[in-house]
Amino acid sequence: MKILKIWAAVAVAFCAQAQAQDYLNYSVANAHSHNDYMQDVPFWEAYYAHFGSIEADVFLVKNQLWVANTEKDLSPDRTLEKLYLDNISKQIKLNKGNICPDGQKKLQLLIDIKQDYEASLAALVSILKKYPEITGNPEIKIVITGDRPKSEYFKNYPEYLYFDGDLNQAYTSDQLKRVGMFSASFTDLVKWSGKGIPRDEEKERITKAVEKAHASQKPVRFYGAPDFTNAWVNLIDMGVDYINTDHIPDLKKFMNSIPKNFYKNTKDYIPYTPTYATDGIRKKVKNVILLIPDGTSLPQYYAAFTANKGKLNVFNMKATGLSKTNSYNAYITDSAPGSTAFATGIKTKNTFVGVDASGKALVQIPDIIAGHGMVSGLISTGDVTDATPADFYAHSDNRNSSASILKDFIASKTKILIGGPTSGLTPETEQKFKEAKIDVYRDLKSAGKISNRTVVIDPMASQRITNGRGNWLSDAFDLTLNNLKSNDKGFFMMVEASQTDGGGHSNNIEQLVTELLDFDAVVGKAMKFADENKETLVIVLGDHETGGLTLLDGSLQEGWVLGNFSTNDHTAIPASVFAYGPNSGEFTGLFENAEIFHKILSAYGIQK
Ligand SMILES: [Zn+2]
Repeated sequence: MKILKIWAAVAVAFCAQAQAQDYLNYSVANAHSHNDYMQDVPFWEAYYAHFGSIEADVFLVKNQLWVANTEKDLSPDRTLEKLYLDNISKQIKLNKGNICPDGQKKLQLLIDIKQDYEASLAALVSILKKYPEITGNPEIKIVITGDRPKSEYFKNYPEYLYFDGDLNQAYTSDQLKRVGMFSASFTDLVKWSGKGIPRDEEKERITKAVEKAHASQKPVRFYGAPDFTNAWVNLIDMGVDYINTDHIPDLKKFMNSIPKNFYKNTKDYIPYTPTYATDGIRKKVKNVILLIPDGTSLPQYYAAFTANKGKLNVFNMKATGLSKTNSYNAYITDSAPGSTAFATGIKTKNTFVGVDASGKALVQIPDIIAGHGMVSGLISTGDVTDATPADFYAHSDNRNSSASILKDFIASKTKILIGGPTSGLTPETEQKFKEAKIDVYRDLKSAGKISNRTVVIDPMASQRITNGRGNWLSDAFDLTLNNLKSNDKGFFMMVEASQTDGGGHSNNIEQLVTELLDFDAVVGKAMKFADENKETLVIVLGDHETGGLTLLDGSLQEGWVLGNFSTNDHTAIPASVFAYGPNSGEFTGLFENAEIFHKILSAYGIQK
């Protein structure tokens, strides 16, 4: 049972202020449907949401228990039997003895007796005689609250009945056996509204109440507690076992998203310490390293920063700005026009790669700088024909035309292209690559020392970092840098962390953060090279935000974060920009994404 697992965590949690792991111990089993009969579909909504606890208020009318909040709401078709007991019984029969088909779930039915407990309980006991499948079922716990007998009389009632405990009362161990849980009025305890965090003395009062219940090995619920996301987050932080709600779909979504919204980092790293010797100076550069974590803006970086216990290479860059990502024809861009803007200085239509809105081919940075004797390398942790790398070497009005995109590499002046497998690699293209003296390698290791124009199509590139990609991106960066830096006239390098975007699309904060931290290691390497080389500008920016991420909770000390995604797609939020090295100051303020192109050329001292 979920609640039992919580006890172990609770014992540890209360020693320190560490609550991180508690999130993962919470699920819909901790959800309590308050005044459930007031829902549009009583019982069933909470049942199918797999809530661990459901509450019904009852009045004794004509020897029947009628479910209602006040006497004026009484109606003969709304009895405890019709709305709850019959349905529970039906499900148990349907599931061959279990409340739910998987046999893993428990259900607490909290019956709130509004008046005259003696007569009401006598009626309840008599009604329940018809439901042995409920009263004899270890998965069902019936707890009586509201008007109820004094603890010395608990023993006079059948053993299948439990009672709601009062935290201000002392119980003998026999009486305690009949206490199903403890409930307390939240508003009597504190005035905290649920916004922000409770004041210290309020937090102390709440946690003391929780500790008291836990000392008796009982779960605790607060009625009248604030009922929205921020309040739930804080109640979980304080170890409250049952989260009381009138908003079943919202709490269900919140609880079910915890496993994908929560991430705790287990190995934080120390970022590179920059010298800042050339940072911000005005001087032509020989090299530009453009690092693109796809689908990221400030929330993504801050999630990674939190998971890495308050440090990140990219946050050591002092020049920060914002890039407006809207495309030629859409408020919300995709990666194709997003990076076309960086590569060409032109905003184009969604799904267009290296072409303008009319479909005309645009000249990209690698081709422009080749005229000045410079070389270029492109790296991605996705398909080599994905929109972001393709934007720098190909021309297509459809980002999905991977065969024609890959073929475009032949005519491009880009020297090195490294990434994951593509369906666009046909025997015909391989033959054409051969004729054009382009070396094709199937993994990074066999690429060894690059001399000719080179394409590396390595299946490892497309693996997730959590799936064993290891240092692949760093190794690809080193391999490319070692080759490009030997060119006297300078170079351009673009590195895309492709799978950060996937973390946003799949609303998976672990994927997002692990990919972004892997990418940040490359940011550190690029900054180190910039310090050694003194003529290198490093720029970090996403092509757009993905997921509409917000951060609900986190610990910079413990390296965990709880996020919440508002969409499974891109958003219009401007992308954060960071720059380091000569001319980094040009990347501050708010500007159009297409200006990145002009800022890069101007840093090289190239007029276009
Ligand atoms: Zn995307």
